[in-house]
Amino acid sequence: MGVKRVLVFAGKLGYQTRSFDEAARKLGVALTFVTDRCHQLEDPWGDRAIPVHFESPEAAAYTVLEAAYVARGLGLAYNHPAGVEACRSKLRMREVFRDAGLRVPWFRGVALRPAPEPALLGISYPCVLKPVSLSASQGVVRANDREEFLAAAERVQRVLESPEVLASREAHLDEMIVEGYIAGKEVAVEGLLIDGTLRVLAIFDKPDPLEGPYFEETIYVTPSRLPEAQQREIEGCAAEAVRALGLSQGPVHAEFRINEDGVWPLEVAPRPIGGLCARALRFVGDASDEAIGLEELLLRQAVEMPFENWKREAAASGVMMIPVPSSGVLESVEGAELAGAIPHIVGLEITARLHDYIAAWPEGSSYLGFLFARAEAAEEVEGALRAAHRKLRFAIRARLAVEHPATRRVVG
Ligand code: ADP
Repeated sequence: MGVKRVLVFAGKLGYQTRSFDEAARKLGVALTFVTDRCHQLEDPWGDRAIPVHFESPEAAAYTVLEAAYVARGLGLAYNHPAGVEACRSKLRMREVFRDAGLRVPWFRGVALRPAPEPALLGISYPCVLKPVSLSASQGVVRANDREEFLAAAERVQRVLESPEVLASREAHLDEMIVEGYIAGKEVAVEGLLIDGTLRVLAIFDKPDPLEGPYFEETIYVTPSRLPEAQQREIEGCAAEAVRALGLSQGPVHAEFRINEDGVWPLEVAPRPIGGLCARALRFVGDASDEAIGLEELLLRQAVEMPFENWKREAAASGVMMIPVPSSGVLESVEGAELAGAIPHIVGLEITARLHDYIAAWPEGSSYLGFLFARAEAAEEVEGALRAAHRKLRFAIRARLAVEHPATRRVVG
């Protein structure tokens, strides 16, 4: 029998692609990474990755979209490109959810130029301004009145016109979506679609209030401490949201808000939870005591190896995406040993590089690092993450605005 080969489409090669590599080696599966990077050099990374320009088709740097087209071309089971495409535009996704009868706030697509006048657009407050096609909460800003709206719009515009973002060649960089602010608790759902049926692998609570004005993530803890009935409602909403989008196969990462009106789908993405956060998930099977990671579970599904009996382990688990307190050059990190010694802490990775510039939100999109905890109860996990974070000291030296026009601060 020939060795099965899996194509993994990745925006960049990093922690997650290494985890896929490890899992593939264990399963005896051959992996080929398809990635958007310079292909002037002959296999510069020595890993035979296939370089492609993700801006095609349709001038968009759409990793998963490219995967959807390739899978269709090869006749493989994967999501229909139209569903994947809807996931890449926050505006299109709202339309799909609204048309499917899911809860959506009011929303409008707004051109960044000329500077929008909220009174003419029928904007009410509080509202949230977001780039249509960025991710990781980059450029997402809450505004509570007209003045904040104008300042936020200018800031979103600067993010979208920064050299880094323009270099991504994403679509819709001249547009934002403005929508009503949804108050309430937020959760993330990690799921796996099998022939159109959603299996929820984990519901993560986000115990820090995410009330803005910016929305960088911090703590994720699973299992959720929400009442069972509410968790079932979230699962139901997740299933309806993926159905509305027409997604049918593979990993799903989604965000929801919950308040007295019910469950609101914020966003659904046809990909696994990002980067290192996947390490917070481990799965155990019936026959074996050894836990496997999310990447192995996904590969098992892709190559039709048994995976259905694997369930998330019994322990509570969590990750803290370590927030960036202010933009600047990271000079030093202290306290890693103390943080690592806190009970229930099982990992700490500082991913920001010393002496590199790191941007805080809303301009930013990468964290200082990741803390991981595992314990019997979700409360212990949350407590451990907070205690460990308090031990860490990051020295960040502010850079003058003229050095980096894209991240100038808005005054006033
Ligand atoms: P991204 O893909 O950049 O993460 P999202 O639409 O998921 O963009 O928004 C990022 C975060 O901003 C959400 O996780 C949520 O905390 C907050 N947010 C976005 N839209 C709203 C909204 N309408 N009401 C309240 N919070 C929101």
